Amino acid sequence: MIFQNSLKFAQQLDAADPLGKFRNEFYFPKVKGKEVIYFTGNSLGLQPKRTQEYVDEIMTDWRELAVEGHFHADKSWWDYHERLAAPLAKVVGAKPQEVTVMNTLTVNLHLLMVSFYRPTPKRFKIICEEKAFPSDQYMFNSQVKFHGLDPKEAIVTLNKREGEHFWRTEDILEKIKEVGDELALVLIGGVNYYNGQVFNMKEITQVAKEQGAMVGWDLAHGAGNIALHLHDWGVDFAAWCSYKYMNSGPGNASGVYIHEQYLDRSDIPRLEGWWGTKKETRFLMEPEFQPMANADAWQISNPPVLALAPYLASLEMFEEVGMEALIQKRETIVQYLEFILQEIGKEANANFQIITPEERGCQLSVLLHGQGKALFQYLMDNGVIVDWREPNVIRLAPAPFYCSFEDMYRFGQVLKSGIGG
Ligand SMILES: *Cc1c(COP(=O)(O)O)cnc(C)c1O
Repeated sequence: MIFQNSLKFAQQLDAADPLGKFRNEFYFPKVKGKEVIYFTGNSLGLQPKRTQEYVDEIMTDWRELAVEGHFHADKSWWDYHERLAAPLAKVVGAKPQEVTVMNTLTVNLHLLMVSFYRPTPKRFKIICEEKAFPSDQYMFNSQVKFHGLDPKEAIVTLNKREGEHFWRTEDILEKIKEVGDELALVLIGGVNYYNGQVFNMKEITQVAKEQGAMVGWDLAHGAGNIALHLHDWGVDFAAWCSYKYMNSGPGNASGVYIHEQYLDRSDIPRLEGWWGTKKETRFLMEPEFQPMANADAWQISNPPVLALAPYLASLEMFEEVGMEALIQKRETIVQYLEFILQEIGKEANANFQIITPEERGCQLSVLLHGQGKALFQYLMDNGVIVDWREPNVIRLAPAPFYCSFEDMYRFGQVLKSGIGG
């Protein structure tokens, strides 16, 4: 498509956008009385208007039914999480029995490492990306130390080449083969939070499996953003948060995927609690743990229904739209944003460098050569919500669910005035 940097052209794209109507399903914050241009759906997705109703339903049931709500609410609480599994499985390319929702992301990755990082004297190394999300780094370090190992020996990082801003798949595969039979686990952020790169999960998973390692993915920036086929790729486990592209509210519950081959098994070590034991016999309160035959076996506590309600509201919207349509719009809107950045760069004689490689989802990370935090502040003051990362990178993520092509055009105009063009 030949793009144009004009309001009229952007509005034409919006008029032809089958997802355009969903914009009105979300609340936009306002700056100076005007709805913002929101580029931080990769950090905290906007609130869907229908979410309130889902939360109110729980509050009403609690008020009117109290403890009886566990079994007699319209959406009973004791199995509330089961309503999320099937729609969520579609988002991540899994079977419904392979998916559950519980806890929060880092907690879940820790729990999954308990099951799937089982170091032996020979096979004990973890491969992750360099400068992984800090929470993941703390997790790796503490897990390795928990097993009495030295992080300096056990953690192997994947490095970018000197002077480059992205990882090369061939380098990753080579490193995996090099670590070979010492490799216990590969656990990488499937979409890098800093440069927006989408890793070749299929190939990396396959090659790591050939080395006899376990493979997990932190999909904080992947779920609801890119096409995922966790089951078909043979991924062992994955987890993601619900508050980024999945629009389910700050700090909200995390989704978990565990490959079918590990389900309905008593021989896998897990940290266990009463919501993981078979629901048919759970309330007999017997001492013996019999794991649920699905990913729920990893659930420890009874479900936090007030947290799950917004996630259910959001998943209903993902059902209505479908990942394919979301991805289609995402590709066009990110291309349009890229075009706008190039045009404004030319017009204003500014040097923006997009460091996100071709393998990308919703996010463009842009190096602002010669422009510093002042420009970031100018954007924020003028109703463009972006994210600043030291030393001078802004991250722009136009979530296709609610961002418009007109937003991209208007962003360009604000950017241009911000650099005095
Ligand atoms: C956002 C994010 C997290 C957040 O972890 P919480 O446990 O939800 O606070 C973890 N890992 C990555 C890669 C992230 O982008």
